[in-house]
Amino acid sequence: MQSTVQVRIDLAALRHNLAQVRSLCPDSRVLAMVKADAYGHGLLPVARALRDADGLAVARLDEALQLRRAGNGQRILLLGTLLDANDLALCSAQRVDITAHDMDTVQRIVDIAHRAPLCVWLKLDSGMHRLGLSPEEFAQADRLLRAAPGIIELLHLTHLSSAEDFDSPAADAQLAAFGAARNTAGRTPHDTAASVANSAAIIGRAGVHGEWVRPGIMLYGQNPLAQSHAVPLRPVMTLSARVIALRELPAGAAVGYNGRWTSTRPSRIAMLGIGYGDGYPRHAKNGTPVWIDGRNAPLAGRVSMDSIAVDVTDCDRVAIGDEAQLWGPQLSASLVAAWADTISYELFTGVTARVPRVYVDD
Ligand SMILES: *Cc1c(COP(=O)(O)O)cnc(C)c1O
Repeated sequence: MQSTVQVRIDLAALRHNLAQVRSLCPDSRVLAMVKADAYGHGLLPVARALRDADGLAVARLDEALQLRRAGNGQRILLLGTLLDANDLALCSAQRVDITAHDMDTVQRIVDIAHRAPLCVWLKLDSGMHRLGLSPEEFAQADRLLRAAPGIIELLHLTHLSSAEDFDSPAADAQLAAFGAARNTAGRTPHDTAASVANSAAIIGRAGVHGEWVRPGIMLYGQNPLAQSHAVPLRPVMTLSARVIALRELPAGAAVGYNGRWTSTRPSRIAMLGIGYGDGYPRHAKNGTPVWIDGRNAPLAGRVSMDSIAVDVTDCDRVAIGDEAQLWGPQLSASLVAAWADTISYELFTGVTARVPRVYVDD
């Protein structure tokens, strides 16, 4: 059976990118973000390739349990979610670290930890106003957890809303708030490990790395600061599709739903067997680059569920069955994302289940 579309995951590139994280923050431990099926790259194969990371982080308890069922013995942090007493007991039994981001969870942890010991990452809302405790709650929670039997380790965590934006004062304000909260909390705050940095802060804010860094998108090969800070990252995912039809059109021919693209000259159109049903973004505009025949050719017209049209008039040789790259080493996912008013994270996590995955290593 021929597939018209494929995702290729380069595990060697993943390890290369982990090594780049290590060289940017040699004094920090690395918590590799593998939430959302490892940003759409496949949780279990990615976790295996990242076995040298000091820990993994997921967003849902199911993801943590899936790792344990597969025999993964790494440290795992469960980011902020809903956790009742049964879930907490399960986390304890499965040695899954938890994030305490509200006072109810803190209280449930205190109630249960003496019989279900836990590692707890206490999360401050330092200004993103998504999840986390206020500075006052943070100090109180820190006291409660320090006094509670069964807390194996207590760590401090916060998340920056705009680490990639050096024109905004938000990150500096958040860092100041985190430092202040750590200083007022507990008896010996600086014995408590801190975790602040996502990919953008790892790359662009060397002073804030702390004991644990939390790289996500850079492990998968995208640099959120590509404009200002070069890092030799390698794309991990390649999304490719084959040409399923070719047609010659005269000038003035409209292509696809609502005729959003019209040829201005006699044109050659390649139809690729990929569409939004595979996770190619439906909002991609006319002109979105597609890598085919060794060059970028422009998307022509609306993305359909199972196909897209590409104007290959300026290509030398395109034949039915040829493979095109939608993103990957030849074509940055961030660039394609910009043409679709989104970010590479959404493209990666949006690849649908019908697309066959192929894992390669060297
Ligand atoms: C997803 C996530 C990260 C990683 O962010 P990237 O921009 O992908 O590096 C770090 N910390 C938390 C809390 C996250 O949810």
